[in-house]
Amino acid sequence: MSSAGQASKVPPRKRAKSTKKDKEDATGEPAPKKPRTASKRKKTDAAKQQVVWPEYFNDVSDALNTVLAFCSSRKHLATTFPVVRSSVEALLKQPLDLSKVAELKALLPDTIKFGYTPRDQLLIHASSSREKSPDFSLSPSSSRLNPSEAEEDHVLILDFLDATRGKKATHTQHTLAPPPSLSPEAVKKLIEKRNERFAAAVDELLQATPPSEDPVLLLQAAAREHIPVNPSATAKTAPDGKRKGKDREVPRWEDRPSIDAIITEIEHEEWYKNQIVERRVFDARQGQIAPLDPPLSDPIQHALKASRGITDLYTHQVSAIGALAKGRDVIVSTSTASGKSVIYQVPILRYLEEDGAATALLIYPTKALAQDQKLALEKLLGACSGLEHVTIATYDGDTPQEARRAIRDTVSVVFTNFDMLHTSILPHEDLWRRFLKNLKIVAVDELHYYSALFGSHVALVMRRFRRVCAAVGNRRIRFVSCSATISKPGEHMRAIFGLDDVEEITEDGAPSGRKDFLIWNPPPMDEVDPSLGRHSSLGEATGLMRALMKRGVRVIMFCKIRKTCELAMKTLRQDLSAEGRMDILNKVMSYRGGYSQEDRRKIERDAFSGHLLGIVATNALELGVDIGVLDAVIMLGFPISIASFRQQAGRAGRRARDALAVLVADSLPIDQHYVAHPDELFEKGVKDLVLDLESKPILEAHLQCAAHEMPLRGEDEVWFGRLTRELCEAKLRRDQEGWYHVHPKYLPFPAKHVSLRGVEEERYVVVDVSRDGREGRGHVVEEVEVSRALFELYEGGVFIHQGLTFVVQEVSHDSKVAKVIRSDVNWITEPRQPAGADALLRNIDAVQTYRIREIRGSDQRAYFGRKFLFVQVLNAAYRNKKILDAVDLDTPPWQRETTGAWIDVPKPVLELMQDRSINVAAAIHSATHAFLNRFAMGADLRTECKVPEKEYKVSESARKRPARLVFYDIPGKGGAVAAKAFDHVSDVLRDAEAAVDSCECEEGCAACEYFPSCKEGNVVSSKLGALLILKSILKIPIDADLISDHYGDPDEAHQTIVEASQVRAVDGVEVEGATP
Ligand SMILES: [Zn+2]
Ligand SMILES: [Zn+2]
Repeated sequence: MSSAGQASKVPPRKRAKSTKKDKEDATGEPAPKKPRTASKRKKTDAAKQQVVWPEYFNDVSDALNTVLAFCSSRKHLATTFPVVRSSVEALLKQPLDLSKVAELKALLPDTIKFGYTPRDQLLIHASSSREKSPDFSLSPSSSRLNPSEAEEDHVLILDFLDATRGKKATHTQHTLAPPPSLSPEAVKKLIEKRNERFAAAVDELLQATPPSEDPVLLLQAAAREHIPVNPSATAKTAPDGKRKGKDREVPRWEDRPSIDAIITEIEHEEWYKNQIVERRVFDARQGQIAPLDPPLSDPIQHALKASRGITDLYTHQVSAIGALAKGRDVIVSTSTASGKSVIYQVPILRYLEEDGAATALLIYPTKALAQDQKLALEKLLGACSGLEHVTIATYDGDTPQEARRAIRDTVSVVFTNFDMLHTSILPHEDLWRRFLKNLKIVAVDELHYYSALFGSHVALVMRRFRRVCAAVGNRRIRFVSCSATISKPGEHMRAIFGLDDVEEITEDGAPSGRKDFLIWNPPPMDEVDPSLGRHSSLGEATGLMRALMKRGVRVIMFCKIRKTCELAMKTLRQDLSAEGRMDILNKVMSYRGGYSQEDRRKIERDAFSGHLLGIVATNALELGVDIGVLDAVIMLGFPISIASFRQQAGRAGRRARDALAVLVADSLPIDQHYVAHPDELFEKGVKDLVLDLESKPILEAHLQCAAHEMPLRGEDEVWFGRLTRELCEAKLRRDQEGWYHVHPKYLPFPAKHVSLRGVEEERYVVVDVSRDGREGRGHVVEEVEVSRALFELYEGGVFIHQGLTFVVQEVSHDSKVAKVIRSDVNWITEPRQPAGADALLRNIDAVQTYRIREIRGSDQRAYFGRKFLFVQVLNAAYRNKKILDAVDLDTPPWQRETTGAWIDVPKPVLELMQDRSINVAAAIHSATHAFLNRFAMGADLRTECKVPEKEYKVSESARKRPARLVFYDIPGKGGAVAAKAFDHVSDVLRDAEAAVDSCECEEGCAACEYFPSCKEGNVVSSKLGALLILKSILKIPIDADLISDHYGDPDEAHQTIVEASQVRAVDGVEVEGATP
């Protein structure tokens, strides 16, 4: 983690020419600098003999040092500046002011912590010294979202960041926990060491000062940059942070330096340790325009210019609009911000000019996007003479019942989503007749969003829609869609819409600014000892983000999970407030699922209006919600897929301005794989988007809905495919005339039985009950899904929202309410297993076999059946890098039923692996991941990911898991994907085996067995083990060379796996043959 925002070192040797450059350096980045090496110290000791110190340097240092050392030796005393000052003044018999300390800080920027910290964080001293649970009855601070209110009370801290800790603690600068008590001997040593370091720094300064200059004056000048700023005071008096002169001001967006210049600056800063391991530059591209034939009418031309400033159309816009005018259906797949909305808007205006009764339907994946686009079209229509009266509306779950009728009866353009089409529009098609009969154009934006399970549902909704339109006599609707760059856009559109012929437009005519791509690998903790690992990606990413924001760069940081998102926000909050940069902190927000709609809309508005300088987001923002101009994207860890990587990177940069995208690599295997093979990130094709239109459970569900909309006949197979007759016959009700009707058990609303995005989970409400919060009383902070709540809401746990910490006081599992109080605490909590027991159970157990299938060429079998997913959290730890405390929890077990497929690992290979000390759990984990990597819908399946602490721990595990490759449907998603994996098990196994066998990597990589969404980051991994398992299941002979000299480390191979036993089958199961 980064240091608590020390202003960066103004190195003595550069002092000699104290120029503008030095001031630019003083922007303050994380700089956990290594202590000087012994050899260097010796050299400066020698130099000391020749350098005569001015008297000035002698006074302060020793006394200060003495006091600090004594402070460190006690347990309870926080080294706040007032405490230190009174002691030092007593010794020195003269006043000690801030500037003196700032001079020390300028000399030893990495060693001294001198900055403001929220007062509440100091409470950790009091609590941990009592050696029991941290005190949760902390005085709650005032309120929520508004940081300047919440962080009112700050304390100036003066501390040394060196020594007294183990070597692993080099990144705990935030830690205000008291150091262990020291013996007098150790205290003496500590003082000596600090004196030595101070002396060396003074020497360096003196040597670097040219004769014409005065070292004291130079130091005093440098110290001005290090005088801490009280965030409480600045928040009240100078919201823009102007009191420190020009250097501290964030440049206006228009005035910011170029990205290239900023990268060069960063490379010259102290904290830069060659983290940039790859840099690619994509040059600016000129826009290509073309004339439209026939040209636009004058009013439309005028409207485009007046509302959007558009005078010319880019080539891809012209091709798309032209093709639509010729009656073709169109897909446009071009970069973000290439002006895709014009492609829907212009044809809509044209249709409306021709025919006042014309209607249009625009479908977006999220409500926010639909809102966004509605505003844009409204503006355009308002500027178009003759069309000002046209009414448009969003129609989604938030649309009030009383407004719906007017929308159906009068509105010309409707903005909606597929969920509404499915549950509200299609079931009431009789109420929508006017709209459907006059419908000219249907636009589906962000088409790449609809793939896998959700895409399969959407494709069937689209078929129901087209069937209903045809039935009301409208067969002339034009379909248009846009997507990010995907591998086969035309094919995907044909599949989703059920169309035969689609015009595909991929040539991008929009201009784009220059773009820099960086891969940023956190530096090793210790260059000599790689076993200490690397600095945290979170600290690096937030440090980089601060560096960019200070230079006026608008940044979005993407985090993979909500928790990281909040931790990153918390870190930024701490570091920026310690630096006194409330001006920046007030312009940073986090954004993720779970926030109330009100909060989310506010953040979107602030971002769009350019009020925000930084956003920390989960990929909820990956979609194209227009949040205005962003200059830089930081990805904290490799996102789930290469497609996501490109999507997220695409969020930075618009037209004229240069932009930056940075991948800050985690230490996970998959991240480090891309660090080593950056080409793959830029050049590798993305996976094809997949749909499954022949999944019987999904198809049946939509046939029930379709039959309810209007009865089905066998001929409807033109819409729903070759399985239509069979499923209708088996699952629907046939009348005498041969029409099929919905099965009565789904009445009255069959659509309610089908959830396109999976079942909405029940949620816990998180309520802020801070006692003295003015608006805090009973304020709902957010809602948390049940499956997360078990891990995030437990008594004593720390819950983070907008980077602010709350302590959970009480959880009611009956009413699903968690009460929290706002408290600035300096620790986080995580559910964990206590040593020696398996407390955090997360099992997926097969309980009943429904189907059995042969595996081609093998006597092994694949199974499909019912499973239980079982989670229980038993224990929580309170940690601050180290465990402070562990408390028993009393949370109810959470059990869900789901379906899944499994394959048992043959006994001989189990014995072989045990014999060679190959970790069987790792082998199984890698084999399942290799399988999922080769299965097109693998992203919709889960497996039992192996946890490193559990698999690699030394003591004997009490709980043994069966030796079995397991894949299961995500509970509540209504999947049937596992059944698909079961049907194709032989092919997928063979592909997986071939991929692992032929892969040239040593120990596993993203091409063979690292699964991008592995919950445990692919840490527990064995390529060799995976290969052995796959070969033995397929009965492929194992080459003796493969294992001839392989013997694992018996300690690491601690086995937590036992041979699997048969799972009870339902009566009458017959073994199905392998698919040919
Ligand atoms: Zn590999
Ligand atoms: Zn995994």
